[in-house]
Amino acid sequence: MSDLNDDLGRELDALRARGLFRQWHTVASAQAARIVVDGRQFLNFSSNDYLGLANDPVLKRAGIEAIQRYGAGAGASRLVCGNLQPYRQLEDKLARFKNKEAAIVFASGYAANVGAIPDLVGEADVLIIDKLDHASIIDGARLSGATVRVYPHKNLKKLEDILRQCEKFRRRLIVTETVFSMDGDLAPLAEIVALKEKYNSWLMVDEAHATGLFGPNRRGIAEAAGVEDQIDVTLGTLSKALGSAGGFVAGSQTLIDYLRNRARSLIYSTALPPAVCAAATAALDFVMSEDGHKRRDKLWRNVSELKNGLAKLGIQNQSRSAIIPILVGDEQRAVEISQQFFQRGIFVPAIRYPTVPKSKARLRVTVTAGHTSEEISEFLSVFDSLCRSGRGADAAFTKASADDESG
Ligand SMILES: *Cc1c(COP(=O)(O)O)cnc(C)c1O
Repeated sequence: MSDLNDDLGRELDALRARGLFRQWHTVASAQAARIVVDGRQFLNFSSNDYLGLANDPVLKRAGIEAIQRYGAGAGASRLVCGNLQPYRQLEDKLARFKNKEAAIVFASGYAANVGAIPDLVGEADVLIIDKLDHASIIDGARLSGATVRVYPHKNLKKLEDILRQCEKFRRRLIVTETVFSMDGDLAPLAEIVALKEKYNSWLMVDEAHATGLFGPNRRGIAEAAGVEDQIDVTLGTLSKALGSAGGFVAGSQTLIDYLRNRARSLIYSTALPPAVCAAATAALDFVMSEDGHKRRDKLWRNVSELKNGLAKLGIQNQSRSAIIPILVGDEQRAVEISQQFFQRGIFVPAIRYPTVPKSKARLRVTVTAGHTSEEISEFLSVFDSLCRSGRGADAAFTKASADDESG
């Protein structure tokens, strides 16, 4: 048999040759608009901490108090003895926040998708997903054993074709993100709801990048679109706008009881540390408060500033959220441009295959409520100078973005 290191090393060399080798930087500070990497300060345009809560004193205090009272670790799976009181408080609050009968918390959003999807559909069923759905949805689909049908991104006609062809299955479950994580655009939720009803199907939405940000009560896109009552399964994460960690599903009491009995990623995994649950509970309180409202308004002002600034530099995009992709196309080139930003003190990641399709590499720029106008201007001026210097970040952007519009 071949040597493990030779074998794997060759595969890594192939990744390097295609610009797909991945490395990470170690951040030596809290998540914020400015972070410390390699002993240097950087402006951070890469985080999903949209409301700047990850390092908020209110969350930190709640976490510290929970550690003092309940200790560092949960000790076991929730069904054994890990279901500490902060879980109960968090789930009660989540259900109220989401205006659902009940909610259940998993170790992460990823664990929630791979846990919940295989409980809802199996071999007799069909799962219908958007081409750009998150990896955790795809992995849940694979684990389920259900027939999987994929429709082109947001293509309602294709979705309807698939639904029409799938009436023979026992169950039909449609799963869509509401804010797409790498493009920042929104699912046409009202139209999907209409199709789900017409074809007597179930609908699950992943509100990972919408929870805490959209709708009058900041519950997500389903609330903003006025279709909350027609959603069968709502999934979200506590790790993005809510600044903590953990994933959740909200819905009927029956659904939640069912998941507690069936979801393997919940049953066979140690419960989240109490401090994490307590911080998430504090984040929910904040998001539901008047201050939370103001923080969210600040985020949308920052989003407008950044988008308007980019538009002036010729970069348009279809983002309707705090995720603003700048399309580059070529993988190697996206990495080079990200490195040029890095040299100029700005942290913005290149996102490549398989996170996005091949030749759709991009800079994924995210803005948060924690950025100041000066920091946004600094980003724009560095972007402008990179375009002008022609040392990589040139017309490729504009062209690729324009291609994206037509595609
Ligand atoms: C981030 C993300 C997840 C996973 O959530 P984590 O809490 O980070 O594990 C699931 N779905 C979507 C759409 C995401 O963007």
